Amino acid sequence: MDITELRDRILNQDRRALARAITLVESGRSDHREQAAALLDALRPAGRQAIRIGLSGTPGVGKSTFIESFGMFLTAQGMRVAVLAVDPSSARSGGSILGDKTRMERLSRDKHAFIRPSPSQTHLGGVARRTREAVALCEAANFDVVLIETVGVGQSETVVSEMSDLFLLLLAPAGGDELQGVKRGIMEMADLILVNKADGDLKATATRTCADYSGALRLLRKRPQDPEGFPKAMTVSAIEENGLDEAWAQMCELTSWRRAQGQWDSRRAAQARHWFIEELRQTVLAQLETPKALQEINGLAADVAENKLSPSAAADRVLKALHIPQA
Ligand code: GDP
Repeated sequence: MDITELRDRILNQDRRALARAITLVESGRSDHREQAAALLDALRPAGRQAIRIGLSGTPGVGKSTFIESFGMFLTAQGMRVAVLAVDPSSARSGGSILGDKTRMERLSRDKHAFIRPSPSQTHLGGVARRTREAVALCEAANFDVVLIETVGVGQSETVVSEMSDLFLLLLAPAGGDELQGVKRGIMEMADLILVNKADGDLKATATRTCADYSGALRLLRKRPQDPEGFPKAMTVSAIEENGLDEAWAQMCELTSWRRAQGQWDSRRAAQARHWFIEELRQTVLAQLETPKALQEINGLAADVAENKLSPSAAADRVLKALHIPQA
């Protein structure tokens, strides 16, 4: 299938074409990279945008259960929902945690939903690029909401929040000690904290946990991108499908406010700038890892170690050999 045909099919919401295009952006082959870039360029003029929602939480907190319930809630309202995952641990653990076929079984049968597991790549930079491009493809395929799920591994939360319009943090009901366990940086990224499993025996604990987090959020510095009262914490039950409508209402309120204030567009613009710089950085770093570069570097490293050459002179030589002008 050529790029023009792939573009047309994606614009016509053809899911198989979308899956194929995501496979293309996941490929590391240079001819595939070129085709992927051409495809993304061809789709850009359509200018379609979805609400990009990042979702993070430790394993077992109920992410897949929540995404399934919330996804079904959204499709029942007539929306089309795509689910992507950023899981840099998947290659290491031998199978993607977020790619398990048995997860989200109901949602995967929903014809208004599209689920794509995380590719097996240990390198977070690679997963980030692929996910960003997959988000763009899903938007072109006219999805209204793109959910980007991540487990809290390494920097994956930061990566996901940098490609999301809204960032949700899913937490489990727990005693006060647990609150200390959530890193401040992650709390600061969240637009909405959802304390899941607020049902049955866990309901009272969930309510208490939620109050604790509400208190903790009030202590954070006010962010320019927030209206009064945000970020906020609330309880949900993914299993009983409780609180999903309220959570969605909060997301809509935040979305409308940010759009009206110009925050929505400025955040996307800042993200685009961030990814441009990041892409450049990754590309230059990758050049230092080619066999040719490694050979050059290892050869010079011995000279530097023996004090025959200064570190900066050695660096200069490597950069010259790679045709990268020195800063
Ligand atoms: P993930 O690892 O974050 O994707 O978590 P899962 O969605 O796989 O859920 C982990 C466990 O928590 C499973 O046994 C779920 O049935 C359970 N669970 C998820 N959501 C809820 C909920 O709302 N209430 C209760 N009681 N259990 C839940």
